Amino acid sequence: MSTVIPIHAASIGCADAPVLRERGQREVFCGLTGIIWLHRKIQDAFFLVVGSRTCAHLIQSAAGVMIFAEPRFATAIIDERDLAGLADANTELDRVVTRLLERRPEIKLLFLVGSCPSEVIKLDLSRAASRLSASFSPGVRVLNYSGSGIETTFTQGEDACLASLVPDLPASAADAPTSLLVVGALADVVEDQFARLFTQLGIGPVRFFPPRHANDLPPVGPNTRFLLAQPFLADTARALEQRGAVRLPAPFPLGVEGTTHWLQAAATQFGVAPQRFEVVTASARQRAGAALARQRVQLAGKKIFFFPDSQLEIPLARFLSRELGMELAEVGTPYLHRQHLAEELALLPAGTFLSEGQNVDNQLDRCRAARPDLVVCGLGLANPLEAEGMTTKWSIELVFTPIQGYDQASDLAELFTRPLVRKLRLAA
Ligand code: SF4
Repeated sequence: MSTVIPIHAASIGCADAPVLRERGQREVFCGLTGIIWLHRKIQDAFFLVVGSRTCAHLIQSAAGVMIFAEPRFATAIIDERDLAGLADANTELDRVVTRLLERRPEIKLLFLVGSCPSEVIKLDLSRAASRLSASFSPGVRVLNYSGSGIETTFTQGEDACLASLVPDLPASAADAPTSLLVVGALADVVEDQFARLFTQLGIGPVRFFPPRHANDLPPVGPNTRFLLAQPFLADTARALEQRGAVRLPAPFPLGVEGTTHWLQAAATQFGVAPQRFEVVTASARQRAGAALARQRVQLAGKKIFFFPDSQLEIPLARFLSRELGMELAEVGTPYLHRQHLAEELALLPAGTFLSEGQNVDNQLDRCRAARPDLVVCGLGLANPLEAEGMTTKWSIELVFTPIQGYDQASDLAELFTRPLVRKLRLAA
């Protein structure tokens, strides 16, 4: 018998729960940050930020660990002459791109990444991308997307990047078999684990998007079924649906339960027998469950407060409450995509305090009043909260670290136990 419990039969959790919507000052990074993990994923892509020195500093400090490698990102600096309209920014951009592609012949895909300054001077990067693509095709494809904004959040950079790639995906043949597309950047090790599980389940063909190589774009069409691996890909999902692909509703593959439901969504679509599903996933589930039991000792009963930052907050809250026994003081998310998160919301404990958007002062007051054991927040809030005696976890680490799937469930839990253990040691 399958141990997978249908989500809606199990609970309606927070499916219809009220959400506090706040608009006010926000403390988030912009979408340029996504370049740090995307450039590792697509191994022959280059990200050229068209921005200011501030943008260059953001990228360099976010990617501090990369200084010994020849990076596959850079910033074309818009200087005072460009801002004053004294120089032709398009001519400058063409010159920078030509020099870059001459020097780096391994680049097959170039993203021109828009920023606040490029938007201020109204530099049309989509026209620039078409012009440069025409000059450098077929060897190099040039695309553009925007990473700008203080009104956005840092994971939106990946969504914008992938959405810009969707129109370039080849059309799948009308008579091609139904295929599965896993959407969202995953660490290679996680991708390999999922690929093995899909093979053992007899599900295929399976492709991953983004691909590791620019020339390996997956075909898409009405016979494509896709599973989102990340909860922040609203525009990408919409673009895939416009190409005829169909999303398989599922929670996200965090923790044993999330991973099982996520795999189950594909298994159901591809007609995998429940017994086979059980046999293929049983040992990984048991291993992960045993590893989580050790982490649960540290985390059960501890109160956690999420500030809105990575858009991973709701799946993480579900994992931490249901599999590790944590209490949810508040779960804040920058945006709540009710459709993509429906299965997650159904699994959240009824009565969870949910908030969307941010008014940072109000939220800080609620956080202080809740006196949580652990606060998940962006870098900008972590230091001040630590200075007030709170224990914090940087949400950006959750995007840089492989956390999806059975084999990573314990590592994911450990990201939350570590700051608590460190605090205990310091207090001892
Ligand atoms: S918020 Fe705007 S100016 Fe600041 S780093 Fe991001 S794109 Fe550049």
